[in-house]
Amino acid sequence: MLLNFVSRMFSRDLAIDLGTANTLVFVQGEGIILNEPSIVAIRLTDQSVVAVGREAKEMLGRTPGNVAAIRPLKDGVIADLDVAQKMLHHFIARTAGHYRARLRPRIVIGVPSGITQVEKRAVRDSAMQAGAREVYLLEEPTAAAIGAGMPIQEPGGNMIVTIGGGTTEVAVISLSGVVYCESLRTAGDEMDEAIVQYIKKHYNLLIGERRAEAIKIELGSACQTGSDRRTMQVKGRDLIDGIPKTILVGEDEIREALRESVATIIDAVRVCLEHTPPELAADIIDKGIVMAGGGALLRGLDQLVREETNLPVTIAPDPLSCVALGTGKVLDEIDLLRKVAIGS
Ligand code: ADP
Ligand code: MG
Repeated sequence: MLLNFVSRMFSRDLAIDLGTANTLVFVQGEGIILNEPSIVAIRLTDQSVVAVGREAKEMLGRTPGNVAAIRPLKDGVIADLDVAQKMLHHFIARTAGHYRARLRPRIVIGVPSGITQVEKRAVRDSAMQAGAREVYLLEEPTAAAIGAGMPIQEPGGNMIVTIGGGTTEVAVISLSGVVYCESLRTAGDEMDEAIVQYIKKHYNLLIGERRAEAIKIELGSACQTGSDRRTMQVKGRDLIDGIPKTILVGEDEIREALRESVATIIDAVRVCLEHTPPELAADIIDKGIVMAGGGALLRGLDQLVREETNLPVTIAPDPLSCVALGTGKVLDEIDLLRKVAIGS
């Protein structure tokens, strides 16, 4: 009892956004102290970790034969459980200087919704092994909605669309529970892949996924927002003669490349609206849709969702940090945490 009190007084708890593209760690009382790509470079001969996070991302597509840069959560499910555990362990270990190591922290982890029982157990176990006192899991849409400041505890409909790297989640939340959730594998990674394919098809040029992501962020759009004059130089390898080459691509071309992914996301929003009970739908007409996750930053996507649904649409203040801020917020509200945490 006393020990419990003391540890609550002095220990700092942790919140982790275990995302398919980025992992963020929030320390209670401090805020976000770590924000790194969810990538691990593994030496294939002995499965040892060569690099984690940003350093491993630099290696993506550039690794020598005996090293592989792995994204363990690539498609929203935990594709490589062993590597995911190593990554989580590494990130938790890096926060050790932020609290007294002898007082084990409580850890709240935001996970992609649709995570299986086995994956939940693996995440929980690896956090315990990394030194957690207790582990709570929170689904990404709930965490994002809390992070965006939506009143999810009240009896009203809150619609949140989170577009990450591997998954898009469209959810309606009321009274701290997910009423309906549409989860799809179309998100940032698929957009990058669509750009790779477009450049290959129209220019016979091969580019890597990191370059495709850079094009998407710099030039990508969901609808026409300006005069379409923006262009960008793109370097790649010519598929015919194998020689490195530079081409010039325009904003309109990249919009065309992204059209299908964008349409799939808009469809999911429609399906979710169709499945929303009328009372909650009425609330959403008033309050509108909130978008979060890095994909929400795609130029013009909010405008297109607004046009296609005739509903008010806003982007969360800090879309890439929303989940981490939401999981961080529940550290201070144990009642809310008990309500929103998912069982194992
Ligand atoms: P996850 O929660 O799955 O880790 P994030 O919310 O961190 O994903 O978002 C990462 C995705 O957002 C990546 O696919 C990245 O390319 C994309 N992204 C980041 N910034 C932008 C931007 N300005 N425009 C379009 N996409 C973006
Ligand atoms: Mg995320």
